[in-house]
Amino acid sequence: MTALMPERTPATTSPRTSAVTVQELNYWERAVALYVSSMPSRFRAGTVSREQMHAWMLDGVERLGLEEIRRQARYADGHHRLWMSHLVTAEVERRHKARFPLKGRLNRAEQGAANSVFVLAPVSGRREVPEVDGVCPCGGRGYVEINDPGLDPELSYSLDCPVHRAGASWWRGGAA
Ligand SMILES: [Zn+2]
Repeated sequence: MTALMPERTPATTSPRTSAVTVQELNYWERAVALYVSSMPSRFRAGTVSREQMHAWMLDGVERLGLEEIRRQARYADGHHRLWMSHLVTAEVERRHKARFPLKGRLNRAEQGAANSVFVLAPVSGRREVPEVDGVCPCGGRGYVEINDPGLDPELSYSLDCPVHRAGASWWRGGAA
């Protein structure tokens, strides 16, 4: 008898996660995987090894499945791009908060993902594909009209949507 756990082999690993390595995950996928993993929400900075962080990421992938990790990562990416442009709607924010209710934990997961990408860049060829969970303020047109009714109409302008702007490598929607 031996107390050693058997080595994982492709035969005993779930097909959906058998091939996944941390390097195949982009920034947001790593952050979402950490968020849903067994990572504690609180620990002292510097007390956790990179190997442990990466083990948590793979744990998160195992818990949620790669497809779901990627779906939630696209939404997190889309939310972040809208947020950077001050375009987050109440609906999009509500869905984001429902998905990631623990803000401190999400921050920790994003920090872990950033540290990881810094030392272990994602394999090339994986495109970032942001999505908006809900109605995008651009309505899929690729731009948002900014006109405050309290302001001079002459001052209205349009802003490229950070998710659906024309020419974005990931965006193939709209009228073909
Ligand atoms: Zn948009």
